[in-house]
Order: sequence, then structure tokens, then C-alpha cells
Amino acid sequence: MKIVRTSILPFHGFSAINLLGILFVHHGVYLSNELINHERIHTAQQRELLYVFFYIIYIIEWLVRLTMRGNAYRNISFEREAYANQRNLNYLKERPLCAWRHYMRPAARHRK
Ligand SMILES: [Zn+2]
Repeated sequence: MKIVRTSILPFHGFSAINLLGILFVHHGVYLSNELINHERIHTAQQRELLYVFFYIIYIIEWLVRLTMRGNAYRNISFEREAYANQRNLNYLKERPLCAWRHYMRPAARHRK
């Protein structure tokens, strides 16, 4: 994964953003193994959806989640999969195709 350090991206409040498999990170942000793995999971999601469908689904799901309870960003299925598995550094070796589908359930079912 190509990593680009910049002060422009990502937007305020985020430390990194993965665009088309390129990771844009603010200067000074520590790139932990978990963060890299999180972003690699997003790259896998993007590839299997031919990139364009990833962004279309991501934005539509975010807009829908804005109308629901909880944090819309954190409840997007792509983010749920990435956050749930970022600590498993072997996850991408064992990950089923389109595993994000299994994270589309309503947010309330994931609460502890
Ligand atoms: Zn993410």
C-alpha cells in the first residue's frame, strides 16, 4: 500500500484516509500495525467492488446511517468489518470474499 504524508488529507477529525488503495496520512500520525491493517481491509473491500461500487455503497450507507441511532461513520459495514478485525493481522489471509456484507446488521445488535 502506497502511503502519502500530507497536510491536506484526510479531513478534519480523521488521521488517515484510503483512496483507491493509497493511504493519505497527516504528518506525525503514527502508523500502527492495526491502522495499516484497517486500511488494508478497506483496500480489499475496494478491490472486490471494483473501487467505484465501494464508494457508492459507502456514501449511500453513510447517508442511511445518519438517520439511525449511533455513529453513522462507525456503523458503516465497511468500517465495522475493518474495526472488528484490525487487530487480527492474519485477517486478510482468511477473510471470505465480500465479508463486509455480514456487518450490515442494525447497529443495536453490535452493542455490548
Ligand atoms: Zn476505516
